[in-house]
Amino acid sequence: MSDKLLVIGEARDGELRNVTFEAIAAAKTIDSDAEIVGVLCGGDDLSTSAQEVIYHGADRVVTVQHDNLKAYTSEGYSQAVMAVVEDESPDGIVMGHTAIGKDLTPKLAAKLDTGLISDATDIENDDGDPVFIRPIYSGKAFEKKTITSGLTFVTIRPNNIAALERDDSRTGEVATKDVDVKDIQTIIKDVVRKASEGVDLSEANVIIAGGRGVKSAEGFAPLYELADVLGGAVGASRGACDAEYCDYSLQIGQTGKVVTPDLYIAVGISGAIQHLAGMSNSKVIVAINKDPEANIFNVADYGIVGDVFEVIPKLTEQFKQT
Ligand code: FAD
Repeated sequence: MSDKLLVIGEARDGELRNVTFEAIAAAKTIDSDAEIVGVLCGGDDLSTSAQEVIYHGADRVVTVQHDNLKAYTSEGYSQAVMAVVEDESPDGIVMGHTAIGKDLTPKLAAKLDTGLISDATDIENDDGDPVFIRPIYSGKAFEKKTITSGLTFVTIRPNNIAALERDDSRTGEVATKDVDVKDIQTIIKDVVRKASEGVDLSEANVIIAGGRGVKSAEGFAPLYELADVLGGAVGASRGACDAEYCDYSLQIGQTGKVVTPDLYIAVGISGAIQHLAGMSNSKVIVAINKDPEANIFNVADYGIVGDVFEVIPKLTEQFKQT
């Protein structure tokens, strides 16, 4: 389909997010012969991150460093990426379907008058042409999309397309592009994190999500303990957030985060359609609920009918021993 694909990388606290590497793998699936060019924007030195991008499969990297790119803003990043796009004239652009990806790609696609396929969870090959699979109707159905012509942006859902194995022997050119990033109307003065430190929910391989059945903020403590043992993150239903058991940054679902971990443990969650929209594509779903008729059991691979406060400590004990 194409011969040059840009992959826009994303970092958090100076660390590249895994979805950057997944986007490189996606680009290779779109066209295994294409030249893959990583694009990194930021306020600090990007050379270490650029090397990482090459180790994970990019052929070369263009970095844009500017004080106005220290924190993400629509205006700043679109100026930086647009300058690279103009230089490189790529045939396609791939990025993570993250908060930044969801903001930046439609803006650039509109400016460039090009197509956008968002939230792809898989890419198939149809006689050499990529076919993008994306969930619709809150994950109840999937549609297949193809590119008919021209430059197209593609965003991929984190945790769905496996990153390539890191290969430290890979080499590639790292070039710096000077862009006068200016006229920024939004100034980020400070970022106040509400979510707990630790594993990022949208990239976690294991999620322990609590619902109203957890009963209180204190009731979440055993969930955090289990998450620690499994190296996972804690999430929540909107019911639990509305009841102030935890912060809205943990909310999973239609109006919260969409997650696809390897293991999702739903604890005291009834399984409302709006919750399922954010987690039903998880690879293995375990539901713990005292109501055997709870809807969550309809999407669960394994179900435990029981009381949260008896089951979770037992699970944690068992996992500690393995
Ligand atoms: P409940 O439905 O009250 O379920 C609690 C469950 O806990 C029950 O099944 C009960 O049997 C079980 N339980 C109780 N005690 C125990 C115990 N001791 N041990 C074991 N099990 C126990 N919801 C979301 O989650 N995410 C969203 O993004 C979202 N967006 C929405 C958008 C809109 C426009 C609307 C209208 C709603 C949205 N909702 C969303 C809300 C959604 O409809 C449900 O109200 C919510 O998901 C319910 O949360 P819950 O399952 O924690 O609570």
